[in-house]
Amino acid sequence: MWRLITYTEQYTPITPYKSTYAIGIVEDENGNRLVVRIDSKYFGRLRTGMVGSVYEEWSIFGSFKKFVPEGVEEPAKVALVTGSARGIGAAIALELAKAGYTVVVSDLTYDESAEKTLQEIKAAGGSAIFVAIDVSSRESVERAVKEVAEKLGRIDVLVNSAEITRDAYLQRMSAEDWDAVIKVNLTGASNCAKAVAPYMIRQGGGVIVNISSIVGMVGNVGQTNYAASKAGLIGLTYSLAKELAPYGIRVVAIAPGFVRTRMTLAVPKSILRDYLRRIPIARLIEPTEVAKLVKHVVENEAINGVVIPIDLGLTISSPKA
Ligand code: NAP
Repeated sequence: MWRLITYTEQYTPITPYKSTYAIGIVEDENGNRLVVRIDSKYFGRLRTGMVGSVYEEWSIFGSFKKFVPEGVEEPAKVALVTGSARGIGAAIALELAKAGYTVVVSDLTYDESAEKTLQEIKAAGGSAIFVAIDVSSRESVERAVKEVAEKLGRIDVLVNSAEITRDAYLQRMSAEDWDAVIKVNLTGASNCAKAVAPYMIRQGGGVIVNISSIVGMVGNVGQTNYAASKAGLIGLTYSLAKELAPYGIRVVAIAPGFVRTRMTLAVPKSILRDYLRRIPIARLIEPTEVAKLVKHVVENEAINGVVIPIDLGLTISSPKA
């Protein structure tokens, strides 16, 4: 049995490990002392005097001694889902609540849809609060993220799902419609990631899931602004995954095809029929299917820095023009 005498939580990635961890000194009952590494997932929960076991662990940089404290309770994990009053965001909020996360349902304003999402989570035995966020406003995002951290103590998962569309051929698209879509869909996701990252770093890890779109990969007529915002999210994902991996934070994008939501049901029937004709499995994707993928991404710690299509085979069959 080893007792933690002192420790330091290092937030700066240290070469050659390129990862963040705590370093401590532990002592056994005979007064023998060891310098040990402690997993960053214990950040914020380490205390001198804690007891635990020491294991020899191997890495490509050599072996090291790892201290695993005993009796450290798992905190109730918190997931913030933007644009989750309705549609895919609401399905994701429900799925994560069922998986045991305390969910922050957030949207521009608290309305009937937000109330319905909260009620569904409650009926499923989950726990959720509502926090209003306008993702396009840095001030709104920073204020809301601070509120979440004060109320719930931590932020483990951010899902960037808020979006708008302002469809038109580029020749006829107003500058305002271009700017608005980029500002909500792309800058909004960056605002939220930037605001939650310091909390995740202090906790020793987290997951950011950006809801991109297949349109960001293959394009779509009338959606240059939306497609550019969704392609931008993929670049944001790749770069941020590289920046945040040393802190134990994973960043992943998922790219759905046409999902059964109000956005899709507003698409003219002829365009939808044409789309269905081109994909191997001719149906719409259900919001719950997207939500299940998000839950898998959140739980599977090997998934990082990738864009995962969920598109019934659209990308293998659709011509780009
Ligand atoms: P949705 O029904 O339009 O929901 C988006 C939500 O975002 C709405 O509740 C909306 O609020 C909110 N929102 C808009 N502007 C906001 C802002 N500035 N700050 C905070 N929230 C804001 O969308 P969805 O169809 O469920 O799509 C969810 C995500 O999946 C989006 O990122 C979308 O691009 C992506 N996606 C969807 C499909 C699809 O077929 N539906 C396909 C691929 C990808 P209001 O309603 O009050 O405006």
